[in-house]
Amino acid sequence: MADTKPATQTPARFQDLGLSKIMLASLEQAGYQQPTPIQAGLIPKALDGLDVVGQAQTGTGKTAAFVIPILEQLMSPKQAPGVQALILVPTRELAVQVRGEVEKLSAGRRIHCVALYGGKPIRGQIEKLRRGTQVVVGTPGRVLDHIGRRTLVLDDVWCVVLDEADRMLDIGFRPDIEKILRRCPNDRQTLLLSATVPPPIERLAQRYMFEPESLNFSPTEISVETIEQFYFTVDAIRKFDLLVRLLEREQPRQAIIFCRTKRGTQKIYERLAKRMPSVDCIHGDLQQSARDRVMSAFREGKLQLLVATDVVGRGIDVSGISHIINFDTPQFCDDYVHRVGRTGRMGREGVAYTFVTTEEGGELTRIEQRINRLLKRDEMPGFEATAPPTPIVTPATALGQPAVEKPQPPANLARRPPRRHRRAL
Ligand code: ADP
Ligand code: MG
Repeated sequence: MADTKPATQTPARFQDLGLSKIMLASLEQAGYQQPTPIQAGLIPKALDGLDVVGQAQTGTGKTAAFVIPILEQLMSPKQAPGVQALILVPTRELAVQVRGEVEKLSAGRRIHCVALYGGKPIRGQIEKLRRGTQVVVGTPGRVLDHIGRRTLVLDDVWCVVLDEADRMLDIGFRPDIEKILRRCPNDRQTLLLSATVPPPIERLAQRYMFEPESLNFSPTEISVETIEQFYFTVDAIRKFDLLVRLLEREQPRQAIIFCRTKRGTQKIYERLAKRMPSVDCIHGDLQQSARDRVMSAFREGKLQLLVATDVVGRGIDVSGISHIINFDTPQFCDDYVHRVGRTGRMGREGVAYTFVTTEEGGELTRIEQRINRLLKRDEMPGFEATAPPTPIVTPATALGQPAVEKPQPPANLARRPPRRHRRAL
């Protein structure tokens, strides 16, 4: 794979990327004044018809980087009556989000985009496909389902996008993706977007892409620069109380609270909902309609706190998120990067907190190695992780008198109190 490192250059302009007038007008309408680095790097190559592996951290505009060249090259339905571009994404939420980007950037044009994902009746999707669509965005499972029913025909597809490829492989979509790619015309263009490019992704690219060029915009410092990152050490049983205290202290504009499991997510949500007014949760066990409702409330800013698992939290782009709270440490270090990447989008400020139990010191170190940076320690008075205080045995006990608990000096006395980092957001 040829590795093209981005050159440092004067800020690119959309006008210099060889885009049509109508595209430039849509970009202006969308409020996109300047291409992000991945957009400036990827768009010209994609317009040249090259296969590209684009690596850039979350929140850097990867969606428009592939949507723009697709829209620019769509043929008229007379020339190509079938689906022309197929975009595969890991989750339902992302399918909806990417379809939104396609609609936004094709405003005023007669372009149809259908989202195909599970949890929604297949009949409505079949009907939309039957009416004709140029762009399909979907999760691999549901896309494969439609291919099997012959309601989705790939003969006219000239571009396939694998968005959030690392996450699709994490979820186990690899066999489905390979089946789909094998069904697509051989002379297609393939674009792969990912925040990370571990060896399995490289192998996928080598196998299914044609001499892919690789664009790497992920700095070694992966977590977004503007995000302040803290950790608390806390006893597992006190994590919930710490969460409540932290939320009271921080008054986040909008926060996502990440838990590891669906059950844990549901439990924390139920407890939190008794204490706080604007809380909801999202995880894989919920009905699609409930997930859609929660996501749109969160996106519209009507919901302040969202408790979520990694899979559904991934890739969610809501610009108002001021705080990320890792109630549980993530199972994989990459998930830390993706969780924290939910805040500080497009240069906004954000702050992330991670709760670490005393047994999880190793995980903290792994996260720090992954992001090549130390998390700052934060403290909440009264919440330092300690073993339950053992009563100090005084000679009085020996004399048959009740044990007196000697006042403990506050733990961490020697440490300087952490800087306050509440900010006006
Ligand atoms: P990624 O897929 O890399 O995580 P997204 O494509 O979801 O990032 O984009 C993140 C946010 O940035 C979205 O809200 C999108 O509308 C916005 N965005 C994308 N490109 C631009 C741009 N050129 N200028 C301003 N905002 C942009
Ligand atoms: Mg994305």
